[in-house]
Amino acid sequence: MPTLVFLEHHGDELQKGSLGVLGKAASLGDADAVIAGSGVGGLAAQARGAAKVWVADDPALEAPLPQPRVDVLAKLVGEHAYDTVLFAASVLAADVAAGLAARLDAGLNWDLVDLQQRDGALVGTRPALGDSVYVEVGWRGEPRIALVRSGTFDPPADGAEPQVADAAVELEDFSTRSTMLEQAHEEQSGPSIEDADVVVAGGRGLGGPENFALVEELAKALGGAVAATRAVVDAGWYPYSAQVGQTGRTVSPKLYVACGISGAIQHKVGMQNANVIVAINKDANAPIFEFADLGVVGDLHQVVPKLTELVRARKGGG
Ligand SMILES: Cc1cc2nc3c(=O)[nH]c(=O)nc-3n(C[C@H](O)[C@H](O)[C@H](O)COP(=O)(O)OP(=O)(O)OC[C@H]3O[C@@H](n4cnc5c(N)ncnc54)[C@H](O)[C@@H]3O)c2cc1C
Repeated sequence: MPTLVFLEHHGDELQKGSLGVLGKAASLGDADAVIAGSGVGGLAAQARGAAKVWVADDPALEAPLPQPRVDVLAKLVGEHAYDTVLFAASVLAADVAAGLAARLDAGLNWDLVDLQQRDGALVGTRPALGDSVYVEVGWRGEPRIALVRSGTFDPPADGAEPQVADAAVELEDFSTRSTMLEQAHEEQSGPSIEDADVVVAGGRGLGGPENFALVEELAKALGGAVAATRAVVDAGWYPYSAQVGQTGRTVSPKLYVACGISGAIQHKVGMQNANVIVAINKDANAPIFEFADLGVVGDLHQVVPKLTELVRARKGGG
């Protein structure tokens, strides 16, 4: 039986993480998808790789609240016998997945970084013990519900356009009791750290929040996004949304530039899949040099502005 993938959208775009999960599901077998929101019919064409996309389009689904989405998914699973439901981890997806697991009395595995079919059984892989080991996990019954760690799978580059069908929106009374009073959008110029091809990250080596300007300038010159370590997020130097690592986001850009970052295991797990890792650190023995592709041993306050200048000169043709 096919898999159902929950596709989260922000504005007019389906989230890259959920499209990555859809691509993975389609590589394992038949995969359908569901989009739930208000005025979302036009998004279905973006769901390349899905056999069918269910569109639950209703004003009651305008706010990103979990319970109405649980209603939609529970009905689809019940009527079409999906044996697996997959989500790309996010705050909303985690709530919907947990609500669906409770509603269907189903097993939920979370933080998966891989999925395989083995002898007819679905096997998930998830990091454990502070990401120092990987363990394999399964499900005792159906449907099998899973949350995949953000940034794990890239969306497929191409794929046929899916068939699109309307999904019924019949909400339980208790699902409509919560309302969204206010929603704030973080101002962001440029790509998000999960979508960016280039990520420039700052750590405690910056010395203070004002020095994040160095990182921001380099990111701007490279057309990339800014990330941070937990140490600086905890110190209030940069917002949590930029944190990369075990308790932050997972990124897999083409280029990751780490400025003043020691390379703790909890940071490494969030960025180790970057194609090229460049580290700038004044301590030649910093652990980050053990897994960086290119390293500069030096004071970032001198190296980073020079690098920014060089990138600008290159781009300007100089
Ligand atoms: C359960 C748990 C979860 C965690 N989750 C995360 C997570 O999600 N993400 C995360 O990042 N961390 C996480 N951590 C914290 C992690 O263990 C490290 O403490 C943190 O990553 C260190 O951040 P840092 O590299 O900025 O700081 P530090 O470890 O203090 O490193 C600063 C580096 O800057 C260098 N430096 C100093 N001055 C300069 C200079 N002028 N020029 C160049 N280099 C300089 C130093 O040599 C040093 O290597 C977690 C920890 C725990 C226990």
